Amino acid sequence: MTRRVSIFGATGSVGQNTIDLIARDPEAYDVVALTGASNIAQLASDAIRLSADIAVTADEARLGELKRALDGTGIAAAAGQAALTEAACRPADWVMSAIVGAAGLAPGICALQQGATLALANKESLVCAGALMLETAKAHDARLLPVDSEHSAVFQALIGEDMGAVERIVITASGGAFRDWPLEELADATLAEASSHPNWDMGQRITIDSASMFNKALELIETREYFGVSPAQIEVLVHPESLIHAMVGFNDGALMAHVGPPDMRHAIGFALHWPDRKHLPVERLDLAAIGALTFRAPDEVRWPALRLAREVMERRGLAGAVFNAAKETALDGFIAGELRFPQMADVVDEVLNAVDPGHIDAPMTLDNVAVADHMARQAARGLIEQKTG
Ligand code: NDP
Repeated sequence: MTRRVSIFGATGSVGQNTIDLIARDPEAYDVVALTGASNIAQLASDAIRLSADIAVTADEARLGELKRALDGTGIAAAAGQAALTEAACRPADWVMSAIVGAAGLAPGICALQQGATLALANKESLVCAGALMLETAKAHDARLLPVDSEHSAVFQALIGEDMGAVERIVITASGGAFRDWPLEELADATLAEASSHPNWDMGQRITIDSASMFNKALELIETREYFGVSPAQIEVLVHPESLIHAMVGFNDGALMAHVGPPDMRHAIGFALHWPDRKHLPVERLDLAAIGALTFRAPDEVRWPALRLAREVMERRGLAGAVFNAAKETALDGFIAGELRFPQMADVVDEVLNAVDPGHIDAPMTLDNVAVADHMARQAARGLIEQKTG
């Protein structure tokens, strides 16, 4: 039986890895919707290759370009936020959520409301609105499966286990591009240097977030939301080789580690085939050749994002939405050359301290998440202008 699948963020790094797996077995899948934003050529060619029902770009100004690229194919073209939401409402069995940033939240909620299995790469959804995502999944008998490699690893280590026996969850971090840089040189780090990851080939934003550890900060919050453990039970461990993705520590002292190559097709394929395991085209590790795995404690002076994530986990409510929006705006500022690398964390810290507590304590609805997000972006923009002006 074919499975109906949709891929949100199809033109990105996770989206392309998802398409790689699906395209290897075209008879097994009926592709409903593919979405992108700026890369219309990729979106259209994948939609044609996979015979999708509809291709959607988030960028309304590019609708004409998309329509021309799909002319005569019978594939529908649409653009804008409403079109993304409409595409997410189309019945599908399995939906990949791989849009980058808070923009992935609304389509993810819609897919869950249809009862689809949502493979969640878009960690920002859980950071901004974890409780809402989980409640929506429960209310609609939908399933949320982690795709972040660390969370997929934890999920796999927990199969058949009792959460009551879990003492701690350890998520690993490569340390990113600046792991071994002298601290005083970070202020001069360039965009090109921050955009190069030692182990993973990913989109530019998550690559920079890996260098600043904002990515790991988001993952700490994601771990708390998804697995329901307390902040004190979650640890970050720097592991430069990126081969152990996460570990779960149990009350008998056992530590179950998930070891795998740094290839997102493992976590994506696991979520695609769950609850089965199927053959995946990823490297088989030769541990004898690798020889040694190394670990070190994270340094919160080098990576203040980790401390900020702990504050957000304690604060709860819409603090995650504020944190993520401030982080996205600060990242935009760094990419635009307005902020130096360490100033991103300063901006996020200041926004968390400055934002009206009323926005954080408001009930978690999509509208309130949007308001908190908007306020935090405005506050971060103001701070960036102060710092550059
Ligand atoms: P990319 O930047 O490579 O891709 C992002 C995708 O989102 C593209 O399809 C892009 O379209 C689309 N997009 C960008 N802006 C918008 C918007 N405003 N509205 C709708 N769509 C938009 O990101 P990644 O694939 O690296 O990451 C995607 C998500 O997965 C992120 O949440 C990331 O944290 C997470 N993740 C990524 C991993 C990785 O290995 N890359 C690993 C684990 C998690 P276009 O390219 O056409 O402009």
